[in-house]
Amino acid sequence: MEVISKTNKLKAVLRKTRCAGLEIGFVPTMGALHEGHLALVQRARESAGVIVVSIFVNPVQFGPNEDYEKYPRNLSHDVELLTRLGVDYVFAPGVDEIYPAGFDTFVDVRELTEPLCGRTRPGHFRGVATVVAKLFSIIQPMYAFFGQKDAQQAIIIKKMTAELDFPVDVRICPIVREPDGLAMSSRNQYLSPEERAAAPVLYRSLQRAAAMILEGERDAATLRQEIEKELAREPLARPEYVEIVETQTLAPVEKIRGETLIALAASFGQTRLIDNLLVSTP
Ligand code: AMP
Repeated sequence: MEVISKTNKLKAVLRKTRCAGLEIGFVPTMGALHEGHLALVQRARESAGVIVVSIFVNPVQFGPNEDYEKYPRNLSHDVELLTRLGVDYVFAPGVDEIYPAGFDTFVDVRELTEPLCGRTRPGHFRGVATVVAKLFSIIQPMYAFFGQKDAQQAIIIKKMTAELDFPVDVRICPIVREPDGLAMSSRNQYLSPEERAAAPVLYRSLQRAAAMILEGERDAATLRQEIEKELAREPLARPEYVEIVETQTLAPVEKIRGETLIALAASFGQTRLIDNLLVSTP
């Protein structure tokens, strides 16, 4: 496995890969890798001949009061994990490599970036879409793998890819969870032991909604109330939103029908966590 930090070097290497007829699978990450990331890499290996993983803590997707500075970084450990998984290239550029002085071009997937996390994180998805567009242009993968954990991000990336005509097959992989149901996240390591013990309430509340849907409940307001009630049982959880939305537009629904996304965000101390459930009913 080779770790590459320069864009031109990576482009040159991958040009040869493509000329040799090999298909490139790409997994973008911000590092501090966990099983959720590694599942994406495994999926990539099943589909593509050459695997590129990027590790880049993208400053443009962090708000001024967010955790850019303290975001966990552990390149050598990440490289060790990826070597074991048989990844071919790790792209770990510096900030100047991605955003040289004077950089002033952004990708804005307007309406989809407004609801849910967009309300409290203005500019976040603009930063995500911009860096993913740049990485797609640099790497030119055949396939790119994203996690359902970041449901709104996945929907935005799919729309951006279609509308900007990137010839990339975007694949969304299921959420990988801890044994107690907490969705894996690099940010889980910020949690104190008490907060960590409290955090599975997110999954529990989603499971409660899933059980009600199985029993026939279809009313979004009722389901939302039940999720909020479950969250309120945990004093350390400060819910930010619970939304039940249509998966293409992220518009709120009144009744669950077809594919529906139940998404939520809550803070535990200083740590903001998200989770979601994709439901499919006839
Ligand atoms: P991040 O490093 O947090 O930017 O995440 C990189 C990619 O890994 C994104 O596509 C995430 O959605 C995905 N990801 C993060 N956590 C999980 C998880 N628990 N299960 C599945 N995918 C995940």
